[in-house]
Amino acid sequence: MHIPFDNSYAALPDTFYTRVNPTSVKAPKLLAFNKNLADELGISAPDMDQVQRVFAGNEVPQYADPLAQLYSGHQFGNYNAQLGDGRAILLGEVIDSNNLRRDIQLKGSGRTPYSRGGDGRAWLGPVLREYVISEAMHALGVPTTRALAAVATGEDILREQGMLPGAILTRVASSHLRVGTFQVFAHRGQTAELKTLTEYAIARHYPDANGPMGLLRAVCAKQAELIAAWMSVGFIHGVMNTDNCSISGETIDYGPCAFTDDFHMGRVFSSIDQQARYAYGNQPNMAMWNMAQLATALVQLLDDKDAAVEEATAIIHAMPDQIEAEWLKRFAAKIGISDPEVEDTDLIQGLLNLMQEDGADFTNTFRALSTPNARDQFTDRAAFDAWAQNHAARTASVPDATATMNAANPAVIPRNHRVEQMIQAATAGDMAPFERLMKAFAAPYSLDDSDLAKPPTRAEIIPATFCGT
Ligand code: AMP
Ligand code: MG
Repeated sequence: MHIPFDNSYAALPDTFYTRVNPTSVKAPKLLAFNKNLADELGISAPDMDQVQRVFAGNEVPQYADPLAQLYSGHQFGNYNAQLGDGRAILLGEVIDSNNLRRDIQLKGSGRTPYSRGGDGRAWLGPVLREYVISEAMHALGVPTTRALAAVATGEDILREQGMLPGAILTRVASSHLRVGTFQVFAHRGQTAELKTLTEYAIARHYPDANGPMGLLRAVCAKQAELIAAWMSVGFIHGVMNTDNCSISGETIDYGPCAFTDDFHMGRVFSSIDQQARYAYGNQPNMAMWNMAQLATALVQLLDDKDAAVEEATAIIHAMPDQIEAEWLKRFAAKIGISDPEVEDTDLIQGLLNLMQEDGADFTNTFRALSTPNARDQFTDRAAFDAWAQNHAARTASVPDATATMNAANPAVIPRNHRVEQMIQAATAGDMAPFERLMKAFAAPYSLDDSDLAKPPTRAEIIPATFCGT
């Protein structure tokens, strides 16, 4: 196997990370390998036994420079002074076929100096959950880390639920720079490191950005796009802590995330999110909160603190309008309007209000809007019909409204009950449901009458997802 590594993070000062090799596992078994992504990364992998060894952490590939990254972060609003890759190891970076630098990282590959009390491992369920959902998000047009490989370790690990099969995910990211990567140096007063990191982030992600405030502005714009994209597919991240907030604007660190079936602004799945901090409709606020933490770190780099705080505050205060604009773009397309006006917000909001009152299925209601059957999603059909009349009036003169809707409204998303069924089957050794989901979610906008489009029956509903990853 040849991976064309070109490592830049390992060339940063050694205060940024600790070099550490993955810990070998007993009986690796390759469960999934993303050949298309491997091709994109320039990885040639003729020997699948070696692929299995490398993505199990049993063999360090040539020119890899394995390391665990240091970071800190606010978890549910409380600052944790040291986190870092407790169970992830960056093998290195490649320049992909689009000339973009990408990280290749093992997750669940053993303990590191940042493991704290943890075992450095991941169990099969969350590994396959991240594999399926991150690849589906990519196909849905949402910026995200990708999944390159999943390997079962042949070792059982202890979680709240008992002993569970271990697994390792190999993920690919534009980088693993987080808000928390900036916070750790800012909180320690390590201004030289903070400056180096800022320059590195600008060069890697936002070469046009001018200085720390330019970086802040660019990251805020990307976060605004990301949150709107999440909301447009009914996605709830569940743990938007600052250590899980990527500087590149990709969705990262899939944990107890889920897609909503019936629509509700207050929807929460994560069993540990007791205060509903990261509820569906609170995600814009939390993205802003995270950006305020990034701003707090970056301000330290500027000599004139008063001026810097003023500028950073203005950048953060611009976010609601940015998110609103991105939200309008995404949701207007969902109702067939590719060139929205501000007044369209009321029409969109009117539909969402009806859906919330009625408990209508988010995905299927939008998907049905281009057909005569959308009213079937509601019990209060008169209320929907009234909305549909306004909608028809607005879109009557819009060319391609149907095509716009069908391109913005997926037919299938990774419904939580299907993901859970897939995990149960895989735990029992049956990967067929995983393969089926991967096939369906690779083309989420093509029409099919698959039962994967059906909402869960009452008995199938999975109301909560667990963080015991
Ligand atoms: P997460 O909630 O997965 O984003 O993880 C939060 C922090 O806990 C990160 O620093 C992780 O590296 C660390 N962590 C999570 N699970 C484990 C584990 N099993 N062993 C060691 N560290 C872990
Ligand atoms: Mg994390």
